[in-house]
Amino acid sequence: MLLGSHMSIAGGVYNALISGKEIGCTTIQIFTKSNNQWKARPLTASEISEFRAKQKETQISPVVAHDSYLINVASPDKNLQTKSMEALLVELQRCEALGISHLVMHPGSHVGTGEKEGIKRIAEALNWLHSQTKDYKVQIALETTAGQGTNLGYRFEQIAEIMDLTEQKKRLAVCLDTCHIFAAGYDIRTKAGCQKAMAEFDKIVGLDKLKVIHFNDSVKDFGSKVDRHEHIGKGKIGLEGFRFFMTDKRFEKIPKILETPKDDEGKFDQMNLATLRKLVKN
Ligand code: MN
Ligand code: MN
Ligand code: ZN
Repeated sequence: MLLGSHMSIAGGVYNALISGKEIGCTTIQIFTKSNNQWKARPLTASEISEFRAKQKETQISPVVAHDSYLINVASPDKNLQTKSMEALLVELQRCEALGISHLVMHPGSHVGTGEKEGIKRIAEALNWLHSQTKDYKVQIALETTAGQGTNLGYRFEQIAEIMDLTEQKKRLAVCLDTCHIFAAGYDIRTKAGCQKAMAEFDKIVGLDKLKVIHFNDSVKDFGSKVDRHEHIGKGKIGLEGFRFFMTDKRFEKIPKILETPKDDEGKFDQMNLATLRKLVKN
């Protein structure tokens, strides 16, 4: 079962694999650099080989990455958009070096300039990134969002539109975040609700595009458009939604990754992983 959590790279990227293994992850997500800084020291050859060796040893696969929170390729500010594109390129290079399968990316915020324009700028950025990374294996996974503020990607249609405007559509994947889609207005509290939401996803985006699932319960109510993650089963989504994703065969091969609140000892992650595993048994 591909189940894991977002793990810290403090003290070295390979540490995420060690602590992931300790709490029983079979897949993990990492930031390949600090998530709230633009600049990063390049990865050294020994860091890369250590990471690859640890991955073999721990058998944690796939490892996915998440992009920096500063990045906004939908920005109408040309400087910020360029800076974002260049930062994403560096992240793709780091992912490729580490053998990471997907870089999860927030589509971006239009900052008051309208959804159409924002979506166009995202596709522009993706086209440029693809042109700069011709034979890369790592793929960008566009993450569904809660639609907070002027964030794009809160409707499956918006994700599909970004993909349609991107020349190398085949190189794009999608990351579905349970908290985000719920806050955005997809009711996944019941099995029937999940079936409906995922049928819609399949029709509009295509289930074949779904490569990463973020497992988060939601502090805020259905349709609130507010993004606040809660422990599994303790939020407004509840256990039935997660049971659906844990047991439906279509999601078996898709990494499911927690981004729920953390403590220093990994106890919260272990609790959430145990809650999820129990859903499969009964
Ligand atoms: Mn995210
Ligand atoms: Mn997420
Ligand atoms: Zn979130």
